[in-house]
Amino acid sequence: NNIGNNIVVGEKVEVPIVNGEYVHSIDFDNAATTPPFCSVLNDINNFAPWYSSIHRGAGYKSELSSKVYDNARYLVQDFVHADKDKDVVIFTKNTTESINLLSYVLSQQTEHQNVVLSSWMEHASNDLPWRGKFLLDYIEIDSLGRLSLNDLENKLIKYKGSVKLVTITGTANVTGYINPIHEIASITHKYGAKIMVDGAQMVPHIPVDMMPFNTPEHIDFLVFSAHKMYAPFGIGVLIGPKTVFKKSEALILGGGTFRLYTHGKIQWSDPPLKDEAGTPNVMGVAALSSAIQTLISIGMNEIFSYEKALYDYMVEKMSHIPGICFYSDTSKEDTVSIVPFNMVNISHQLMATILANESGIAVRNGFFCAHPYCERLLGLSESDMEYYFNHKNVKLPGMVRVSLGLYNTYEEIDKFIKTLLLISQNQEYFIQKYTDKIIALENP
Ligand code: PMP
Repeated sequence: NNIGNNIVVGEKVEVPIVNGEYVHSIDFDNAATTPPFCSVLNDINNFAPWYSSIHRGAGYKSELSSKVYDNARYLVQDFVHADKDKDVVIFTKNTTESINLLSYVLSQQTEHQNVVLSSWMEHASNDLPWRGKFLLDYIEIDSLGRLSLNDLENKLIKYKGSVKLVTITGTANVTGYINPIHEIASITHKYGAKIMVDGAQMVPHIPVDMMPFNTPEHIDFLVFSAHKMYAPFGIGVLIGPKTVFKKSEALILGGGTFRLYTHGKIQWSDPPLKDEAGTPNVMGVAALSSAIQTLISIGMNEIFSYEKALYDYMVEKMSHIPGICFYSDTSKEDTVSIVPFNMVNISHQLMATILANESGIAVRNGFFCAHPYCERLLGLSESDMEYYFNHKNVKLPGMVRVSLGLYNTYEEIDKFIKTLLLISQNQEYFIQKYTDKIIALENP
């Protein structure tokens, strides 16, 4: 029943813990980065002797590399059901670069005061790139941190047709909530705006369908990162209508972006080449293709069901541990397997330190690059946040986040639960044991 067993290398790694022993690393921080599939590592190894600069050389290796690179665009299109003729797949460095590129492109096609609607549940990478270039407003969330579709519609009405883009996460990186992106797209299109979905936390965990161009549910732009879908770092994806990218100047200029240039004139290439300046990351693209093929062979519906079953199992066990509080609605069906929590008397930093040092369990703690969202989930105010900004030696609030992947197992969850129980029953002991370590971590 562990559908990912033997296809991910992460679980085979042994890490040192506090008593000098080595234990199997338990990777519960998949929302940050996933370990690579074995198939991806094999494919990278096989491809390595053959890679060469693409699109320019006439040699066999260059032709082969060009083929691998170009075919990857079709595979990506298929994977998320983008339009084969109208959409373009642009390879970037990561989701963050994809959003920055889109923001730059759209800012050239807009009146000064055009509005972008982001939301209170976004990662910094889907908030900061829009600041300064657009009038930016944030769709509200409810008391459990879920997106308010009423507020989306109210804001679209309020801005009377000047909203250019609604930019929203597919699934939230703090709570795991899955947003109804097609319903959001329908509402958005009713008011003449376009939608961008930040798929960083969605594409590796649930089936994604951009839907046909002429339907109200169509997703106009989609972005995601390979390193969260079992391929290594260094590749991101931006998908959107070719016409949009054709109209604008690229963010980065240089080799590969033009057909012809003189000192006086430039004739740009069409997208995607125009937007992929310099020698591209062919190995990264080959790795992404390999990861997508493996995800398809397992089945995205199967992945979602398995991860959801793990999530339900874990949340049920956690809810019996004294002192655990959740920051998301764990009864919700539309959730990927991310759980934000704290234990009373144990700071988020201490909890993460104990889990790593006692049991080799890797989680993330803090604000997860989503400060406004965490501010709301923790019940803080903006002035509370300012206080923390201005007082460097004050302990920062935060949460602990467990995020599962398709290779995690029930046994790993059992070990996690056992450790949590131990911590809750021996709080004083662990606080004493890790005091010096925490002080060192807080004052690097
Ligand atoms: N959006 C979301 C929802 C994320 O979780 C992340 C990564 N934590 C990003 C964007 C940024 O991804 P990357 O660091 O790969 O650019």
